[in-house]
Amino acid sequence: MDLDFSQGDLAFRDEVRAFIAQAFDDDMRAHMGQSKNAHIDKTGQVRWWKRLNEKGWMATDWPAEYGGTGWTHAQKYIFDMEMALAGAPDTSNMGVRMCAPVVMAFGTDEQKKQHLPKILSSEVWWCQGYSEPGSGSDLASLSMKAERDGDHYVLNGSKIWTTYAQHADWMFCLVRTANEAIKQMGISFLLLDMTTPGISIVPLPTLDGPPDGEQEINQVFFENVRVPVANRIGEENQGWTYAKYLLQFERGNAYAPGLTNMLAKVKMIAGAERSDGGQRMLDDTDFRRKLTETQIKVDALNATELRMFAARTAGEAMGAASSMFKLEGSQAQQAITELALEAAGLYAQPFVRDTFAEIRGERNEPRAGPDYAATVAPMYFNYRKTSIYAGSNEIQHNIIAKMVLGL
Ligand SMILES: Cc1cc2nc3c(=O)[nH]c(=O)nc-3n(C[C@H](O)[C@H](O)[C@H](O)COP(=O)(O)OP(=O)(O)OC[C@H]3O[C@@H](n4cnc5c(N)ncnc54)[C@H](O)[C@@H]3O)c2cc1C
Repeated sequence: MDLDFSQGDLAFRDEVRAFIAQAFDDDMRAHMGQSKNAHIDKTGQVRWWKRLNEKGWMATDWPAEYGGTGWTHAQKYIFDMEMALAGAPDTSNMGVRMCAPVVMAFGTDEQKKQHLPKILSSEVWWCQGYSEPGSGSDLASLSMKAERDGDHYVLNGSKIWTTYAQHADWMFCLVRTANEAIKQMGISFLLLDMTTPGISIVPLPTLDGPPDGEQEINQVFFENVRVPVANRIGEENQGWTYAKYLLQFERGNAYAPGLTNMLAKVKMIAGAERSDGGQRMLDDTDFRRKLTETQIKVDALNATELRMFAARTAGEAMGAASSMFKLEGSQAQQAITELALEAAGLYAQPFVRDTFAEIRGERNEPRAGPDYAATVAPMYFNYRKTSIYAGSNEIQHNIIAKMVLGL
């Protein structure tokens, strides 16, 4: 196993840095400085993706024949690390990361032609319609009905926790097309246009901010929504196979780059803030111990992810490792947001809505405390999600118990 970067990799790193210096402009940097979850508004986000696409860097995991970069795992790692260290917006989305691999593997030529170019160019924003009220961890119990009526399915029911449904032009969606004894058997995988009559979106406010502006999750209702049968991926009632195939891409990302960036911010705050004893938080013994423990976890995760890249380059499968990364990565994310909260102290206290009102210019009085403290509490609340979404951490424990321990 060789963990050193080659000369070619180092030259590539310089190219990524040069791109970031030019493309990640001051306006985007200002917006990202106020973001609790590495997102900017839809216009800014799409502008960023289009810049990546112009450079040919939008689809880092796609094969070159579909417009992907065809990068090695090392290049992908370098790209992710440099983007995270710069605090750049998300470099990927659900269309690129989740929907496209399914369309490539199981879609018809027509579907590939219709969707892949628009995913690449960010002309179409996709959302994921998997979870339903009562069907999250036990996803196969989903009950949103799709009944056949000639060349269409008629959909009735609802999807929940749908991230950025309010931005989405299309949804990839699981529906029930048959009631078989084995519940996985009667599910189909559909692609649907969000402007189809009968779809309504209700925002779900979260603890981390106002219900407008940074709205993240929603419930989507379907009332007699007609979706062409031609929009089905693969075979009717075989959707579970495609759904599971997609999930490996949802959990496949490296955590260490983002964690490294988050820790750097904590160190910056702890260098500026004082503890009760009057010394810098960074010099407070108890805080240093916690910071060091977290740094060691992040370094260990980084080394493990690099080891996994080397193994994947040699052709090995991820297996249960993606569950392990999800567990360790999400726990480290939450630990770091707690450290940030502790380091910022009282400056992290203002009610979140007030903080954002001031940032958006809706209030004249200045907020108490330095700018870097503004997103600390929203981020702490926002990151409670990481141990729930993409399969809760308990479910990842179950997967590891089954696949690794054979229990
Ligand atoms: C911020 C956020 C964004 C999301 N975005 C999307 C999206 O865009 N599209 C989408 O389809 N879904 C999305 N989800 C939904 C997410 O996939 C589900 O929340 C998740 O799968 C858990 O399902 P649930 O919420 O129904 O909880 P439940 O499944 O009801 O679980 C409740 C608790 O019970 C535990 N539990 C359940 N079953 C077991 C078991 N067998 N063994 C041990 N413990 C168990 C869980 O770990 C959890 O702690 C999002 C969720 C969040 C929080």
